[in-house]
Amino acid sequence: MYDVTVTGGGPAGALCAEELAKKGFSCLLLEKSKPKRYKACAGGISLEAFNLKPVPDYIVERKIVLARIYSPLRSVDVGERDEPGYTVYRTEYDQWLRDQAQDKGAEIHYEEKVRKVTLKSCTVKGKKEYKSHVIVGAFGVCPCLYREFGVSISEWVQLIQQEFTLPEEVVSERIGNSLEIYFDSTYATWGYSWIFPKKEGVSVGLLSLPRTVRKKERLTHFVNDHQSKLKGATPKKFEKKYTFGGFIPLRPLEKTCGENFVLVGDSAGFCDPVTYEGISSALKSGRIAADTIERYLEHGHPLSSYEDEWRKELYEEDLKYAQKLQNLMYGHNLSDKLAEAVVDIANDDKDMNTALRWLLNRKKPRKTVYNLIMKKKFTLLRKLGLSTVRLLPRLM
Ligand SMILES: Cc1cc2nc3c(=O)[nH]c(=O)nc-3n(C[C@H](O)[C@H](O)[C@H](O)COP(=O)(O)OP(=O)(O)OC[C@H]3O[C@@H](n4cnc5c(N)ncnc54)[C@H](O)[C@@H]3O)c2cc1C
Repeated sequence: MYDVTVTGGGPAGALCAEELAKKGFSCLLLEKSKPKRYKACAGGISLEAFNLKPVPDYIVERKIVLARIYSPLRSVDVGERDEPGYTVYRTEYDQWLRDQAQDKGAEIHYEEKVRKVTLKSCTVKGKKEYKSHVIVGAFGVCPCLYREFGVSISEWVQLIQQEFTLPEEVVSERIGNSLEIYFDSTYATWGYSWIFPKKEGVSVGLLSLPRTVRKKERLTHFVNDHQSKLKGATPKKFEKKYTFGGFIPLRPLEKTCGENFVLVGDSAGFCDPVTYEGISSALKSGRIAADTIERYLEHGHPLSSYEDEWRKELYEEDLKYAQKLQNLMYGHNLSDKLAEAVVDIANDDKDMNTALRWLLNRKKPRKTVYNLIMKKKFTLLRKLGLSTVRLLPRLM
């Protein structure tokens, strides 16, 4: 019998397990993969994610000081030296997080996939059956496990990605310590495409709506059209595959906790719906969950307070406004035009430039970013001309 069983050892589950172990609770973490598994991720660690859990130098691939944002016709640079981000490989980053949890006393079983969760008896079935007082759902996005917790997601987007190797000096010369972000619906039917630099390589990927056909071809098309950055790049293979993907819910789930369980990170739908940066929310929710579980196990306070806590810390100033920004920017046929206008304004206007910087590094909450962008709404309307009539409801 454990105090807590955590199902999944990504950033949310690993940090939750570490915090619980630090508080002295017995904690079992079940992870379906081997240690050092490959995880499809661009590996961007925002300033906020770094501040939540500073990453040791040996895991950092590049210290990021700039982002270059492209619309179909223009580009703008945003960045401040004293607001850096980082890139990592999730293979190393997640392993480091899990090792930290283990060092603090959490028990970790690798290659043990959770197949069944019985909430009534608070048991989790992997290779064996484990009983605990609380179960933490930290499995990312997995329809089978959602069913086990009696929850569901209604809308999601898909991200696909490939890793490439390129000599260090070539990455430095063509891309440098900069995130390359491309708003162009020719490739990404939702959001953007990206090239994120690593020490000796790049992660290249794009977002799309699940119903989009030929996603892989779109990615190949993107790679072929960006040879000035990617010429000579060799695709990397993991477990016999070159292209990997994942799903991300568009918004938090309606139910994120019950009498004896809480959901954290992507499992709860906490990934940012504008940038799809999900590591900081995963870490934050892992910590909030650990604090809530402590109050439950020590003082009998119900786990339902988890919902109040994440609403306060993740939603009211952040995810709520991220959803407004998503609604403004994506999912309509004016996305490219809007990106064009925003990038154009950000080249001359300090507020818009700052808003984009904070959007990416999460130095300030989404509410601040949203308000900064809204200050420019009449400039945006002017730039967009007649076509804005259809955007007006999203801007007001
Ligand atoms: C292509 C792509 C690029 C991305 N790029 C970025 C980025 O640059 N920066 C950023 O911040 N975010 C990025 N994200 C989002 C980010 O990856 C997620 O938001 C983040 O990983 C969420 O962490 P998590 O711990 O909630 O879930 P995950 O990281 O998905 O971890 C879940 C863990 O649970 C395990 N698991 C799953 N099912 C079971 C089971 N049945 N039993 C046991 N274990 C199980 C998995 O193996 C995994 O280790 C990207 C996502 C994708 C798909």
